[in-house]
Formats: sequence, structure tokens, C-alpha cells
Amino acid sequence: MGDVVRFKKPKLQEKFRGRSLCANGFHKWKSEKARPFDVKQGKLLTLYRCTRCGATKTEAT
Ligand SMILES: [Zn+2]
Repeated sequence: MGDVVRFKKPKLQEKFRGRSLCANGFHKWKSEKARPFDVKQGKLLTLYRCTRCGATKTEAT
């Protein structure tokens, strides 16, 4: 009877946790190559990508 509780799938839970974090704006940003694609303003922008949901954002460095 003691094994009944172990029904959860840790992987799925972890994934859901990450997704709910992303949904709340807490992305897991990882910086990618800095690219000078905002040449007009002379800024160097760093591209960030969320390792969980793949969302991207840029930030001036
Ligand atoms: Zn995300």
C-alpha cells in the first residue's frame, strides 16, 4: 500500500513548473551571441533565449 503515493512523474512536474514560471514572466534567460543588429542607434544588443520555452528578448549592453 505504501507505493500508491509514488504515482507522480517528476519529469512532467518539472516541465510544468518551468512552463508556469515562464507564463508568469520568469523565463530562464540564457545569453546568446552579442550581435550589433541595432546599428542605427549604435548599440550592441545581446540576444537572450529562454532555455525552457524558447522565447527571445534583446537587451542593450
Ligand atoms: Zn520561458
